[in-house]
Amino acid sequence: MKIPELFKEKAECGKPVFSLEVFPPKRKSNINSIYDAVEQLKVTDPDFISVTYGAGGNIADNSTCDIAANIKKRYGIETVAHLTCINSTREDVKVMIERFKNSNIENVMALRGDIVPGEEIKREFAHANELAIEIQRKCHDDLEILGACYPEGHYESKNLEEDIQNLKYKIGAGAKVLISQLFFDNVKFYGFFSRLRDAGINVPVAAGIMPVVKSTQIERTVQLSGASLPHGFTEMVARYEYSPESLYEAGIEYAVTQCRDLIEHGVEGVHIYTMNDPDVAIKVHEGIKDLL
Ligand code: FAD
Repeated sequence: MKIPELFKEKAECGKPVFSLEVFPPKRKSNINSIYDAVEQLKVTDPDFISVTYGAGGNIADNSTCDIAANIKKRYGIETVAHLTCINSTREDVKVMIERFKNSNIENVMALRGDIVPGEEIKREFAHANELAIEIQRKCHDDLEILGACYPEGHYESKNLEEDIQNLKYKIGAGAKVLISQLFFDNVKFYGFFSRLRDAGINVPVAAGIMPVVKSTQIERTVQLSGASLPHGFTEMVARYEYSPESLYEAGIEYAVTQCRDLIEHGVEGVHIYTMNDPDVAIKVHEGIKDLL
């Protein structure tokens, strides 16, 4: 099923879309671990699962397409295959798009990818909107396009205003649904959402939520996402820093509270960054399923 259609159907029933994100295991020998995780995640009855695209853009050993296709085939769950372009040539992108189409994938998240110092950039695509245009050119209506957005602004943008202006290019290039970067402060998301609408961006926006359940996740998550940390979050971390079990429970509760507040404020979608940990996603789902 096409994801924009899914958002439309859910909105008509006044319900949010509930989705999950997984990533391909680092080693190919571990590939089955992702299917074991999805087997467990089935209980959450997700509307779709998105599968990230490994940094580096090497198409030869990229398993995103196979995983997204298999989740759909084996479990009957709709999928979104991510695709980055900064490390890819036009030919690489063409090959991946063909692979998606031949694998019955209907939805692609068009991304630029991070520019990592020391890593080769192919310079054939500068931004996600250029990838979206390429997908449109090659597929017309076969593949629906989703895009990423940043409630607190992308780290390369001067400010949120500029980032939202740039987001318009992505929408103009065919992105029909946006999924947000993770955030811990719902107020930031609400402010962002109303600025999108003011800027004339009217596509559905799913809120990206990452349950933080281990102290080791905090520094890395914050560094990579640039998400600001509200008082309630830092207080939780400080209180349970040396108590892993309590931090685990509190992290899930924090994510549940965040999701419930978002849903009560009419968010169109909740997208859980599962970090391939089914137990955490299942617990969060348990805490919000009465609202889904
Ligand atoms: P862009 O939309 O190109 O934006 C990047 C920067 O350029 C922004 O500052 C923007 O304001 C600016 N910009 C955008 N368009 C233009 C333009 N036309 N002209 C001038 N400036 C412009 N990374 C992976 O490697 N694999 C994944 O699977 C993956 N999945 C993700 C999923 C989500 C939901 C999110 C939020 C991020 C994901 N990322 C992934 C990370 C993403 O690749 C990085 O955040 C990257 O730095 C930006 O990607 P983008 O698609 O948002 O880029």
